[in-house]
Amino acid sequence: MKLSNNKLTVYSLKLIPPGEKVEIIYFTKETPFIKQLRNLGLKEGTIVEVFGKDFTGTKFLLKLNESLIALDNELINSILVKPLVNRYLALKEKYAYDLLTGCLRRDYAEEIIKKALVQPPVSIGLADIDNFKAINDSYGHLCGDLVLKEVSRILQNNLRKSDLVVRWGGEEFLLLFKRTTLDLAFRICDRIRRAISEKDIEYDGKLFKVTLSFGVYDVPPLRPMEVLLKEADDALYQAKKTGKNKVVCCY
Ligand code: GH3
Ligand code: MG
Ligand code: MG
Repeated sequence: MKLSNNKLTVYSLKLIPPGEKVEIIYFTKETPFIKQLRNLGLKEGTIVEVFGKDFTGTKFLLKLNESLIALDNELINSILVKPLVNRYLALKEKYAYDLLTGCLRRDYAEEIIKKALVQPPVSIGLADIDNFKAINDSYGHLCGDLVLKEVSRILQNNLRKSDLVVRWGGEEFLLLFKRTTLDLAFRICDRIRRAISEKDIEYDGKLFKVTLSFGVYDVPPLRPMEVLLKEADDALYQAKKTGKNKVVCCY
């Protein structure tokens, strides 16, 4: 059973898998046994952990503080609960993003990229800020950080919901375009390249501009990620070698 209104979705306790913590919201009936449970501390607002079935398979075990409470299967249908956000998932989510830029972190993104690669067409782009060391050297490291934030913001704002932007290295970003051919990925990258090159960045009362070089590659099915990255990296190298502030495709 699942009941919801605008503010709250509650589930029957029966549907909650072992290991999840839930808050008890409501009992759909009041019986003498439920009264006993209340006396044990199992009432609205109590947080309990679902422990699983007992060894006979007929009882449902709940962990309340350090005690286990066994409930009949029939009874758990009448207890409505709200799952708490799984702590592990919450932590994972928190560490998925790079703190400075808000882009996905490389170690977190690698699994996602590998999964996306088996569903062609997929294109990837590597984007690297041009002459970034000179920005740090001329205006200072804090200014470099500001540039990284600004560039990330423009990248994120110009991508579609299904695309990913990953901070791949210091001033290098990986873009993943799902269901996208090379031709379209090229056009998206070039649009972003132009948007960034036209943007005035202000730091300490001074205005300046930055540019990015891109290498893009469309991923043939069944090739390992490392091979694909090498192809995109070669294209990026070509973009750098032939003048920067451009997008080069690898065919
Ligand atoms: P190219 O056009 O060939 O890419 O030259 P570049 O100067 O951009 O590249 P290079 O690899 O020589 O320098 C990259 C610099 O990025 C060096 C490093 O100190 C700086 N960097 C890396 N991460 C950060 C960061 O988080 N903040 C700042 N401010 N600088 C960073
Ligand atoms: Mg660079
Ligand atoms: Mg670099």
